[in-house]
Amino acid sequence: MQVAPPMQIALVGIGKIAVDQHVPAIAGSPDWTLAATVSRKGSVPGSPSFTTMEDMLAARPDISVVSLALPPVPRFAYAKAALDAGRHVMLEKPPGATLAEIHALHALAAQKGLTLYATWHSRMAHAVAPAKAWLAAKTITRAHITWREDVRKWHPGQDWVFEPGGMGVFDPGINALSILTEILPMPVHLTAATLTFPENRQTPIAAALAFSNNVTADFDWRQTGPQTWDIEVETPDGLLALRMGGNVLEIDGTPVQGENSIMGEYPALYARMADLVRSRTGEVDLAPMVHVADAMTLGRREVTEAFHF
Ligand code: NAP
Repeated sequence: MQVAPPMQIALVGIGKIAVDQHVPAIAGSPDWTLAATVSRKGSVPGSPSFTTMEDMLAARPDISVVSLALPPVPRFAYAKAALDAGRHVMLEKPPGATLAEIHALHALAAQKGLTLYATWHSRMAHAVAPAKAWLAAKTITRAHITWREDVRKWHPGQDWVFEPGGMGVFDPGINALSILTEILPMPVHLTAATLTFPENRQTPIAAALAFSNNVTADFDWRQTGPQTWDIEVETPDGLLALRMGGNVLEIDGTPVQGENSIMGEYPALYARMADLVRSRTGEVDLAPMVHVADAMTLGRREVTEAFHF
């Protein structure tokens, strides 16, 4: 069988997630060569580095794909510049700071015949596809998400998560919502929310959400010690539980599928991006972000003690 040659990719925003996940996933993939990085301060040994997007796009017409691992607020300008320059674009989650930004990028990519992939890494967790298959023909009587983690561990010193557009606890919570919207056999919509803001911050540190169809969610960024990333779905045929961020599937309390590791998610995203580019298609599903926007629209605000890293 003929193997397709690797494609040249540039990685933009060399910070925590780029180093933890994107660089190893690209290095381990037969589909990609890390041909350049763009970052004001960061770089990756062995790859030519640029400090501005404009310089990289001008100097490297051979790079056909750009992966953006920046925080959501600055991401739009970088994505637009890449699409304007005729490059395919892969977006970290959440895909942008606002829904309208992503609609604009989606339209631009379609107009230019380029791939735009709004990634949701948690959808690539080991047990998400089996959970979706198990739920496909079932009646859902109740579902609950518990997503509690330690912001200091996952976003050390990253003040942008508490600035407007940083989304606060929805930065991890949207991962849970990306799984929920993938596995449920019916759409749900938000009906109420309580958002808890530290008195010195612009985004919530905790959120309690209620949706139609008896679906609820509890997000909290103040959990130390073991982290909790669980989704439980009740059906007349049994209780499905996804644990470890979608990586382990239990039915009625018995583990049946998956692997307690997040390390398969980014390799799967880059394999998907390779398929999308080669087939000249794209993938933009904004359902998880619609729920976050609705929570911000409908949410009741509570204030709690100041948060400092
Ligand atoms: P980060 O380390 O704070 O930021 C990534 C890099 O983006 C920074 O190192 C910085 O590089 C660049 N950057 C930051 N602000 C910028 C600005 N205003 N303009 C231009 N460049 C800027 O954040 P991260 O944790 O990697 O998160 C980035 C994205 O990945 C977020 O959307 C997040 O939701 C997602 N993500 C994070 C995690 C995690 O565990 N942290 C997990 C999954 C997904 P330079 O200063 O060198 O330019």
